[in-house]
Amino acid sequence: MLVIGSGASGLAAAVSAEGAGGRVALATKGSLQANNSSKAQGGIQASFGAGDSPEQHAEDVWRSSHETADRRLAEALTGDGPGAIHWLEELGVEFTREEDGSYRLARCGGASAKRLLQVGDRTGHAITKALREAWEASSGTSLTNAPLHELTQVNGHWRARVGERQVEAATVVLAAGGRCYAEAERRNELSTNHPNATGEVTTLALDLGAEARDLDALQYHPNGGAWPPNMQGYSIPETTRAYGAVLLNAHGEEFTDSLGPRDIVSQAIFDEVEAGRGVTTPDGRPAVCLDTTRISEADAEVSLPYMLRRYRGAGIDPLRQQILTYPVLHYQNGGLVIDTDARTTLDGVYACGEIAGGAHGRNRMMGNSLLECVVFGRRAGKAAREQASA
Ligand SMILES: Cc1cc2nc3c(=O)[nH]c(=O)nc-3n(C[C@H](O)[C@H](O)[C@H](O)COP(=O)(O)OP(=O)(O)OC[C@H]3O[C@@H](n4cnc5c(N)ncnc54)[C@H](O)[C@@H]3O)c2cc1C
Repeated sequence: MLVIGSGASGLAAAVSAEGAGGRVALATKGSLQANNSSKAQGGIQASFGAGDSPEQHAEDVWRSSHETADRRLAEALTGDGPGAIHWLEELGVEFTREEDGSYRLARCGGASAKRLLQVGDRTGHAITKALREAWEASSGTSLTNAPLHELTQVNGHWRARVGERQVEAATVVLAAGGRCYAEAERRNELSTNHPNATGEVTTLALDLGAEARDLDALQYHPNGGAWPPNMQGYSIPETTRAYGAVLLNAHGEEFTDSLGPRDIVSQAIFDEVEAGRGVTTPDGRPAVCLDTTRISEADAEVSLPYMLRRYRGAGIDPLRQQILTYPVLHYQNGGLVIDTDARTTLDGVYACGEIAGGAHGRNRMMGNSLLECVVFGRRAGKAAREQASA
């Protein structure tokens, strides 16, 4: 089988399939390290808190999606959550823990319980690194600098042109991520995304007749860095707000629930600026204030060290002064239609991670994308291997 993409979802699919005895090749556009997954900071959701459950987690997904999510996918996502975390731990990921040994859990926007596990504020980096190391230690084949640019069905199997090579595979897992980098360029806006997030693999699948959903639903991260210039496009982790930071307008007033669902918080910021109650950065960009001085030093040191380092390196100490922020293009909510085994509507073609739609409906909660990568990456790897060896 062939996996396209080396983010968390592609690596999870490849590692699972190879571990189950599959013959797996993974082709990716650049190096194995080039992806959005490694940039993820805040964390990954799973229901470990007292009184929490996968059902409650699924209910939060449903509500945050404004009842647009595919409930079967949301239930698979949250039901597999705790198991996915233990699998990552077996691969070497060390989630941040409290002094009593329990997971350090934060509450993220739209969540009814503290559910966000973290590895400091470099969670995506830690998860992707562990998956990549597991993949590199396996007998699978990596094809780097090998962008997929053609996929055709030939006599019941798939023929892929990846870079200069041609690969034949019984099944293909599409894990090539979203398109927000390209979309931001088109709109002349900032994006948090890696330059490889350009969406051509989705187009290729659509041209083959695959069904998609909610492709128009793009997500703004409420807290893009707005100042100084080298922080523009940086996604300030939502955990700043989980640990006490609040959004303030030019008059120092709170104008929204800082831990509301992402689309609502982003819209509240757009509206506040539109109403003339925002602030302006020294280079004339719109912004509001994020009062990060309310975060305790202890929480910041454990859960926000990278964010602190980035800002302090840029000459601003977020624990002493407020920072300026404005929404930034971040995530493709929709994507290829899949079932709970990550099958697309094309026979033998699977999709997982940001390229797939449905699990989050039209509005994703933070921390559920990394979870989706692991849960549906594993499901895709297992099902694609089984079909390939049938
Ligand atoms: C700055 C930032 C912070 C984030 N923070 C969080 C967070 O805290 N929690 C959370 O849950 N989510 C977070 N997210 C979202 C999450 O990280 C991503 O949605 C998720 O990791 C996407 O994983 P993926 O495997 O689907 O895609 P990616 O990680 O983007 O990987 C896609 C892969 O496909 C390759 N590719 C692209 N086109 C082709 C092609 N034509 N041929 C071959 N290969 C191709 C790319 O090079 C890449 O290797 C964050 C995202 C960003 C950008």
